[in-house]
Amino acid sequence: MTTNGTAEVVVVGGGVMGCSTAWFLAADHGIRSVIVERDAVASGASGGAAGELGAVGRHRYSIEYTRFLLEGIRMHTEVAETLVAESGVDYLFSDIPILRPALDEEEARDLQGQMGWQREIGIDVEWLDETQVRSLGTWLTEDALGAAYTIEKQLEAYPFAIALAQACERRGVSIRTAEVNGVLRDGERACGVTLASGERIEAGAVLVANGPWSQHTAEWLGMEVPVVPLRGQIVHLSPPDGVPMPAHSIFHETGYVLPKAGGDLLVGTTEELAGFDPYPTMEAQNGILEAVIRIAPNVLDAPIRDLTACLRPYSPDQMPILGAVPGTESLYLSTGHGYKGITLAIISGKAMAQQIANGKSDIDISPFSPARFAEAS
Ligand SMILES: Cc1cc2nc3c(=O)[nH]c(=O)nc-3n(C[C@H](O)[C@H](O)[C@H](O)COP(=O)(O)OP(=O)(O)OC[C@H]3O[C@@H](n4cnc5c(N)ncnc54)[C@H](O)[C@@H]3O)c2cc1C
Repeated sequence: MTTNGTAEVVVVGGGVMGCSTAWFLAADHGIRSVIVERDAVASGASGGAAGELGAVGRHRYSIEYTRFLLEGIRMHTEVAETLVAESGVDYLFSDIPILRPALDEEEARDLQGQMGWQREIGIDVEWLDETQVRSLGTWLTEDALGAAYTIEKQLEAYPFAIALAQACERRGVSIRTAEVNGVLRDGERACGVTLASGERIEAGAVLVANGPWSQHTAEWLGMEVPVVPLRGQIVHLSPPDGVPMPAHSIFHETGYVLPKAGGDLLVGTTEELAGFDPYPTMEAQNGILEAVIRIAPNVLDAPIRDLTACLRPYSPDQMPILGAVPGTESLYLSTGHGYKGITLAIISGKAMAQQIANGKSDIDISPFSPARFAEAS
């Protein structure tokens, strides 16, 4: 990487992707960056996510991508202690037992069929029969014929994003509140950004990590970024009076119930193409609750504490868009993490920091290269 003596790297967007990359740039490579965030750190999906770190489930991915997700979870485990110590923010990284129930014979065959390849790639999954799932407490519907059982990881998404931002600041990264409206170029080389205020920030490299709003950066990058905002809503509940919090999470095609270490019971979610409208709706709340009652009837009596919505940066092949922007120098993109941006925050941030610092990464991110879309632009 070349620097011009000002900020070494400008990072556009203070979500988990921007903050994680800036943290690894500082921590692993001694490179100081400035994060430019137009709203507030974690104001997008990074702060509103459910915080489950998963590689399998409702959305099924290729083996290659599933391995990347698993490695992303392993790396969360590796850095959690350091990140909490360095930031002073405990984001409650913890184990969460997960049940994926079958409500009919076909679902049971499907779930059991998947267990073979899941075990092959290192997922420790077990089948619990009807009697065993009944013994697990009162939350899972009595209609369950059995369930695939795993122990996975979770965290609190907003504190996690804040931890990354705090750790960045402690390592000399500055965070500015401003809106970026363009990338400065010297020929093919990116050399900073322009702000809506008319100011310029010069730098040796630019990382665009602005979530679903990367859709609007075609002119900056010289390529279309085919990312759309996919709205997701979550209902936050408390357990009904006298009913203890479930000790496990339940994931099914119809939705999920996720008890958080922080005390919230999350029930989700939706997948809505509603443009950049970030607001929750009563229609979604009712739809989520009606669906989830099928797998966890207790939800019917649970008091509602909150309803939240945020926008996933969703790419056409459901995989991240990660790497150098083709036909340019010193210009990078990290977006399109869709349903999995919290799971991938550490691995993608580390890989992008290596890419920016060294021109290559020892984590294979070639399947996610922006080039796969640049060719179509
Ligand atoms: C309901 C819901 C639940 C989810 N649950 C999970 C989960 O359990 N596990 C999981 O792994 N993932 C989950 N996700 C996905 C995850 O939240 C996202 O993939 C991830 O947060 C994306 O992070 P990001 O940094 O790319 O984008 P964002 O969080 O959107 O951050 C982008 C930032 O860029 C800023 N910005 C935009 N334009 C500009 C500009 N021009 N100038 C300056 N700043 C700008 C924005 O203000 C924003 O803060 C969930 C998502 C949703 C919606």
